[in-house]
Amino acid sequence: MDIEEFRCRGKEMVDYICSYLTDVNQKRVTPNVEPGYLRNLLPEVAPQEPDDWEDIMKDVNDKIMPGITHWQHPRFHAYFPSGNSFPSILADMLSDAIGCIGFSWAASPSCTELETIVIDWLGKALGLPNHFITSHKRSTGGGVIQSSASECILVSMLAARNQAIRHLKINNPNVEDSVFLPKLVGYCSREAHSCVEKAAKILLVNLRILEPDEYCALRGETLRKAMESDEAKGLLPFFVSTTLGTTSSCSFDNLSEIGPLCKEKPCTWLHVDGAYGGNALILPEMKYLLKGMEYADSFNINPNKWLLVNFDCSCLWVKSRERLTHALVVDPLYLQHANADEAIDYRHWGIPLSRRFRALKLWFVIRKYGLSGLQSYIRNHIRLAKYFESLVLKDCRFEVVNEVKLGLVCFRVKENDTVNQNLLAIINASGKLHMIPSIVKGKYIIRFCVTNEHAKDKDIDVAWSIIEKHASRLVDMRRDMFVRPPLTRQKSKRFSFTRSVSRELYKRSISKSNLHDGATPILVADSDEENERDSDEILNQLVKNSSTFKEDDEVFLIENNPVRTQKAEIKYGSV
Ligand SMILES: *Cc1c(COP(=O)(O)O)cnc(C)c1O
Repeated sequence: MDIEEFRCRGKEMVDYICSYLTDVNQKRVTPNVEPGYLRNLLPEVAPQEPDDWEDIMKDVNDKIMPGITHWQHPRFHAYFPSGNSFPSILADMLSDAIGCIGFSWAASPSCTELETIVIDWLGKALGLPNHFITSHKRSTGGGVIQSSASECILVSMLAARNQAIRHLKINNPNVEDSVFLPKLVGYCSREAHSCVEKAAKILLVNLRILEPDEYCALRGETLRKAMESDEAKGLLPFFVSTTLGTTSSCSFDNLSEIGPLCKEKPCTWLHVDGAYGGNALILPEMKYLLKGMEYADSFNINPNKWLLVNFDCSCLWVKSRERLTHALVVDPLYLQHANADEAIDYRHWGIPLSRRFRALKLWFVIRKYGLSGLQSYIRNHIRLAKYFESLVLKDCRFEVVNEVKLGLVCFRVKENDTVNQNLLAIINASGKLHMIPSIVKGKYIIRFCVTNEHAKDKDIDVAWSIIEKHASRLVDMRRDMFVRPPLTRQKSKRFSFTRSVSRELYKRSISKSNLHDGATPILVADSDEENERDSDEILNQLVKNSSTFKEDDEVFLIENNPVRTQKAEIKYGSV
């Protein structure tokens, strides 16, 4: 492709993107394909000779698009928002064209300097303590852009591990670092994201998963007891990971209780994970959530979740640059440069050497929207979540199980887990709306998250009417089926987002301490005899009928496709 062809194809691509985002609401939210669908459609080996551009784009339309889950669809209410906006897309285009690899200041000065400036802007807008702001007079800390919250938490835990080992070495200078690993113990709540567990696994340290209170918040007293009992066993509490806005239910750990406990210890690093919820700190009315942040050694948010910046853009602030880079610095001669002392080299702040120019998209978005634009965006999502909550509460068949502070509502039908599981399965199978489940306070719940940039009251009304109608059908169906003989459990073993399993298997699975992340299938025990019938028969019936299930056109813009198997639709959502 020469530059003239690029000029022309580039403009076509912008048109293609505009049509995609304009028409996405006409499609199913979730694809209607089975695992392996693409292998049957594409050649087994790469083309020897160049393909025509037209043929590539034709395949995008015919083969790739049918397998896309449309995260920017107005009926997408799963997970958390996937940040996306035109300024961000354009900035990423420019960053791709510049194509610099900004591992050090010298490798592209503006790439490094813009990152420092824009992360300071954001830190100040969130109201973070001054020690996190690189440019602040007495600050010894600063911020950096990583590619994910998982990475932010991993490098924070790594810095904490390094600090703890240095501490233990004072009295045992000749002992190998690895000998201390079994002595280190970290903590998080059962509501923490599974990436905390993954980081502990990578770093070979113990992690204790603690029970939150009835509001799904980790409390100081629980942590204090755990730390004391571990210290009595000769262990060193080296790391505590807390969350502002948990993935399951958007709950908030109690930082002002936890913070002081960490500071009493010789070296307990406090991390605060605000991957989703932390973005809301740009609102003056949400600043109360900062309470206790002054104790944090590190803090992360994902602007690629809730600040309209495209993936990847995860911001990490640390109280001490030195404690972070001490764990990561390696300095071969070929990477050294003359200004190393005055300038930041972000390669020492994370795992990869190579780094994209990600600051550009954050800068574009902050400038083009202004803080006021970003504030109205987040405020609108919070308002709509509260509106959705009010609709759920008006219907006495349903209950809301979380405290709705931000854009996430966790709700359920006041019936057993299997009924809720079936309700979610038929809604997702319809392709008209997409949500995912979680477990909150031991119960299977459905998560409804406001995600679309321009979401309106009308969208919430439409979503609720889809949920409400499927719930009514499900309830009618259960009544009619009471008299039928039970079916075997065989079919319910299909791999779906929620798997219905025997009580034994279920008990074994929950006895493990695995944390929820929204991406791992949830096991649900068949509650009783009647529900076993539910799982299969009702589900099959409802899914079969969902293609003939006529709604007011406005609600269901989606074409039904009765030719594809229903089983595949249920399968959607598997990882
Ligand atoms: C989404 C999420 C994560 C994981 O984010 P990645 O950037 O995908 O690693 C971690 N913590 C919380 C609270 C989250 O919501």
